[in-house]
Amino acid sequence: MLHAEGIVAGYGAIEALHGADFTVAPHEAVALVGPNGAGKSTLFGVISGLLRPWNGKVVFDGQDVTRWSAERRALAGLTLVPEGRRVFAGLTSEENLRLGAYRRARGRDVTGRMAEVFDLFPRLAERRRQRAGLLSGGEQQMLAIGRALMGRPRLLLLDEPSLGLAPLAVREVADALTQLVHTGVTIALVEQNAAVAFGVASRGYLLDRGQVVADGSVDDLRDDVRVHAAYLGEA
Ligand code: ATP
Repeated sequence: MLHAEGIVAGYGAIEALHGADFTVAPHEAVALVGPNGAGKSTLFGVISGLLRPWNGKVVFDGQDVTRWSAERRALAGLTLVPEGRRVFAGLTSEENLRLGAYRRARGRDVTGRMAEVFDLFPRLAERRRQRAGLLSGGEQQMLAIGRALMGRPRLLLLDEPSLGLAPLAVREVADALTQLVHTGVTIALVEQNAAVAFGVASRGYLLDRGQVVADGSVDDLRDDVRVHAAYLGEA
């Protein structure tokens, strides 16, 4: 479904990725892990179209999308939920969700899609008329994911969905992601929380200093000393 190959990318004179490969098959949940500054967000930026790679290509559904804008990729079903739960604080939950459907759906379709999001996140349904800025951190993350789901993504990229959330909210978000995978949405996630990364994903990649240094099943990665080092922040 997604194939990023030989990705070289950076900022100004700094090369942050030195030829990374990353593949996601349909219906998979794939984790991207690694120490701070490894290049995880940079790789998701390249895949989602926020950042142009210096070299390499991104293929989505058999099409070379390397030169496509982020918007065009989102319309094709490749959507990023960026780090930091960026919701529109002054708008209600429902208004935030409607914005996520822009150009991808109208009328009845929006209502149906919203009902699916509310099924996945019942807490959002209870707070549909509340301003997003007044939601808890976990609820805002649910809203950010829900907004991305309004566009009916086929591959959802999530950058640190559990960052800064209370333990209960972390569990709710992880459960929702697992449920999403069961409904047929393919996901790839960057995650600092090992329990979430390895609980949700079945396969993973370890990125270190701009390079993929290990990849395999979550069971294999869980036992990899380099993965342990990454999670303890001592890479
Ligand atoms: P973290 O978990 O800390 O977010 P990461 O693995 O996502 O780390 P990136 O954010 O992709 O890593 O950063 C990779 C490298 O690129 C780092 O050295 C970082 O300092 C640098 N970098 C990231 N964003 C920028 C930017 N906007 N301008 C300049 N350098 C950047």
